[in-house]
This record gives sequence, C-alpha cells and structure tokens, in this order.
Amino acid sequence: MTKLLPTSTAGSLPKPVWLAEPEKLWSPWKLDGDELAEGRRDALRLSLADQQRAGIDIVSDGEQTRQHFVTTFIEHLGGVDFVNRETVRIRNRYDASVPTVVGAVTREKPVFVDDARFLRAQTDQPIKWALPGPMTMVDTLYDAHYGSREKLAWEFATALNQEARELQDAGVDIIQFDEPSFNVFFDEVNDWGVAALERAIEGLTCETAVHVCYGYGIKANTDWKATLGAEWRQYEAIFPKIQASDIDIVSLECHNSHVPIDLIELIRGKKVMVGAIDVASNTVETPEEVADTLRRALQFVDADKLYPSTNCGMAPLPRTVARGKLAALGAGAALLRSELSA
Ligand SMILES: [Zn+2]
Repeated sequence: MTKLLPTSTAGSLPKPVWLAEPEKLWSPWKLDGDELAEGRRDALRLSLADQQRAGIDIVSDGEQTRQHFVTTFIEHLGGVDFVNRETVRIRNRYDASVPTVVGAVTREKPVFVDDARFLRAQTDQPIKWALPGPMTMVDTLYDAHYGSREKLAWEFATALNQEARELQDAGVDIIQFDEPSFNVFFDEVNDWGVAALERAIEGLTCETAVHVCYGYGIKANTDWKATLGAEWRQYEAIFPKIQASDIDIVSLECHNSHVPIDLIELIRGKKVMVGAIDVASNTVETPEEVADTLRRALQFVDADKLYPSTNCGMAPLPRTVARGKLAALGAGAALLRSELSA
C-alpha cells in the first residue's frame, strides 16, 4: 500500500436479513441451492458497497459467503463428518456443536476461490481474504482420528496452504489467518502454533496476516474477558514468536480493550492492523476516538506500517451500527492522515 494508514476490517460484517437471521453466530441460511448462491453474491456486493462508502481501503467479502469463519472451511474438507456433530468446549469458554474428524484430512476442492474471484471482479482496490488458522480449526472440532492437536494442525495447514495459493492466484492481495485461540493456548502457540501457521503460508508471494483477538462481542467472550483482570497481557506470551515469523501483518485488538498498548512494541517491524473499533459494544465511536487510539499506537509502530482496523469481526452487530463503525473508522483514519501529512 502506498497510501498512509490504509483502513480495513478484521473480518465479518452483518448479513442482510433476507440471507440469514441477523445478530447471531452460526445463523442458518434463509435460502438454498441456486438462490443461496446468488443471494450470497448479492450480499457480498452490498457489503463491498458499505465498505467503499465508508472509505475502507483494503476491502473484503465481509464474510457474506460463509456461515461461520471456521466451520464453513472445515465442512468442505474430506475426512470430516459434519452430520454427526459433537459438542466441544471452544477456547475453554463455550460449548458448540461442531464437526468430527473421522479420517485423514484432505482438501478435495477449492472452498472460497470462486467467491474471491467474484470479489476481485467487483473492485480494483486491494482485497483481503480471511481463512481460519490451523490452531483455531483444531479447537473448533472434535478429533476422532489423529489423537494429536499438533498433527491435526499440520494437516490443516497443508490444506490451508493449497487454498491460500489458489486465493493468491485469484488476485487476493492479503490472506489473513484468524487465530483467536493464540490468546488462550500460549505453550502450544510457541511449540507448534506459529510453525503450523508458517506451513500454511509457505511459498506465498502475496501478503499474509494473522488476526489475534479477544473474540466477537458475544456473552461467552464478554464473561471470559471479565476474568482477565485489569491488564490483558496475553499478547506478551506470543508476540515474540510472531515477530520472528514470516507473517507480514499482525491484526490485534486495542480500542476499549485492557490490552496495554505498549505490547505492540514486541512486534516492531511487522505491519500492524490496529483495532480502533470496539465490536463488543453498539456505541459507535467518534472519528476523534478512532484517531486517538491510532495516535497512541503510533508510539510503537511506524506510521508506514500502521493499518487502522476493527478489533474483530462485526457479524453479530446490527447492520446500522456496523455501518456507523465503518464510517467512523474511515473518518478517524482520515483525521490522523491529514495530521501526519501536515
Ligand atoms: Zn477476531
């Protein structure tokens, strides 16, 4: 990016009410067959238009084409039984009904490549595509085959690498891996989590990002955050390993968060997507608040590496709120940009 402070979102945006029930995770589709395929693409175009109107520089599909950021990818893999689901505890936090790994994991066909090609055809702006990270995938299903989280993560990383290479060829500029579980399983992150991520990006020439957040603004996450104390120092345990990795961009949570902002110093040298929008509140930030969060981050990240963003995805928010937050992000970044160029 040549533009200073290029804005983007960390991930999902709300779906239209005719496509899926709003303000809900894992919301079932309201259409099926050809109508669903067309509906998802219409929703993608609306989501893109919202981003463009708000002045977002690096755009995405707003995750309109998937039901959930992890399970939709998993459900396209061989070796996974998504009919006979099991209930597991996700990130030691809440129970969810998830698919089961019953045999060797294989990627038999592309998952999002056609959707990425469709997005590419809609805009000349840089596009970012989100995939689940290997560790978060392992944590979002039941394994009845490998008996080792590390081994399963490695198999997922291989499948993700195949998908990522095809997304790159479809014209995706930045491939982002969502790893919220990096904030929970520190020892595993350092033992094999970052290594699995590097396996997933092997051979890519496009830019790569890892998104590590404190989750959507759902009750299970809000309750968990309440137990984390006054200072959230989770990033401290994993940033050194990420800093030493081949990942180009780190997407993290800042605004309204108890993350000490000086922890960003630990990833000095990386591009940083600084979350300046709280996704756990329906209060729309003012552009001044956004600019203030970004300004504080500037002490620890060089201006040419600062990418204003959201703390996490906005799928569970009311659509009008998400639109307001997008506009605040665009306007807040513009404020700081003009300050810096003055
Ligand atoms: Zn997130």
